Amino acid sequence: MNKKKGFNINDVREANRLSVLRLLATNKMMSRAELARHTGLTKMTLSNLIQDMIAEDLVAESQQLPDDYQTGRKPVLLMISPDSPCILGVLIRRDVLTTVIGDLTGNVIYKNTAEYPAELNNDTLKALISEQYTLALKHTSRRVIGTGISSIGPLDENEGVLLHPPEFGRIYHFNAVKVIGELTEAPVFLINDANAAALAEKLYGIGKACANYIYVHLMNGIGAGLVLNGRIHTGNVGQSGEIGHTSINFEGPFCSCGNRGCLDYYTNIHNLRKRITTQAALNPESRLVQQDAPTLADIIDAAHQKDQLAVSVLEEFCLYLTWSLINTLSLIDSDFIIIGYEKNVAGGLIEETLMLNINNAPGFNENRKVSIVHSVFGGSAPLIGAIAVISEHVFNGQIKLTPGVTLQN
Ligand SMILES: [Zn+2]
Repeated sequence: MNKKKGFNINDVREANRLSVLRLLATNKMMSRAELARHTGLTKMTLSNLIQDMIAEDLVAESQQLPDDYQTGRKPVLLMISPDSPCILGVLIRRDVLTTVIGDLTGNVIYKNTAEYPAELNNDTLKALISEQYTLALKHTSRRVIGTGISSIGPLDENEGVLLHPPEFGRIYHFNAVKVIGELTEAPVFLINDANAAALAEKLYGIGKACANYIYVHLMNGIGAGLVLNGRIHTGNVGQSGEIGHTSINFEGPFCSCGNRGCLDYYTNIHNLRKRITTQAALNPESRLVQQDAPTLADIIDAAHQKDQLAVSVLEEFCLYLTWSLINTLSLIDSDFIIIGYEKNVAGGLIEETLMLNINNAPGFNENRKVSIVHSVFGGSAPLIGAIAVISEHVFNGQIKLTPGVTLQN
C-alpha cells in the first residue's frame, strides 16, 4: 500500500487545530496571545481556527480574567467548552471497578465505584462492566468520543485482553475492549494502570514539562510507567515498566513469577505483613500489630505518626526500591521520578527516603541529582489515565473529534 508522504493544506490546518486543542485542554485556560506564542501561528490563522472551534462547541470563551490582569482592555481567556464531547473511563483494580466520565481536560464529571461479585470470573466481570458502563452512559448527554480502560496486568493492549492477573478471581484472557465495544461505537483502548497513570501526569499533572521520567505505582505490588522523549512507552503489547519483576538478587528466593529475587518478592504487601509479624514482639505497642491485614497506606500512615515498627518496615521497603530505581534511572538516563499510590496517602516520607538513598548511593553519578515527587493525583492517577489515553489519541489525530475531520494515519 502506498503511504502518502506529503501534506496538503487540510492536514496542516488539522494539525494546527489539534495543537490548539492540546494546549487548551492541558493548560485549562489561555488567552489568544498565549496560544499564538506557544503555537507560532499568526493572529489571523489562530483567530479563524478558534472561531470554527467555538462554532463546533469544542472551545468556549471564559468569563474569568487572567491572574495578572490589572487594567485596560479585558483579555478573553479560552477554554475547552463544557459542551465538548466527553470520554468514558474504566479502572479495573483488584478490589473495585470504577467508571468515570471526563473530558479532554482530564476533569471528572461522574464517578462510580462497584464491588466485584464474590464469584469473579470472565462472565461475572463482563456482566459488571456492562452494567456499570450502561449506568455511566445515562449520566451524560454529551457525545462520547472514546473509552479508556486502565487495568491491572499483565495485559495484551493490542488485543484488548487482560491475560491472567494474579490474585484476581478466575479471570483468564478477558477481552475488556470487546466487552465495551459491544456497548459503544466509539473507539476503546486498554492500557496498563501504571502506564495510564504516567500518561495522566504527562498530560495533566506534574510530568508536563519533563521529557523522560519514571512513574512508580505503589500498591500491593510495584508497577511503573515510563515516559521517554515526551511519550508514554508501552512496549510491544503494553507490558513495559514491570520493575516489580526485575531481580535485585539473582540468588534470592523464588518469586511468584518464577524469577529469583524480584523486587516484588521483597516489597509486596504479604512480605511487608510478614516483617510486621516477625518484629511484633519487639514493638508490641505498634498499631500495626493490632491490625488484621494492614495495607501499604496503613503502614505509611503509621510511619508518619512515628510508629517505630512502621518506620523500620518502610525503611527496608525503600532500600529494596532504591536499588531497582537506580538500575532503571541508569538505563533510561532520567533524573525524575513520580510516586503514585493506590489510595490517597500522607505524602513525603517515601519520596524523601528514596531521594536521600539514591542521591547518596555509592557509584551513582555524583553529578546527577534525582528529584522524586508525590503524584498530584493522589490515588487517582490510573483513573485519570483512563481518560488521558483517549485524550492523547485525540491530540495525535488518531481519534476523530468531529465527524469528517481527522488526520489520516
Ligand atoms: Zn517476579
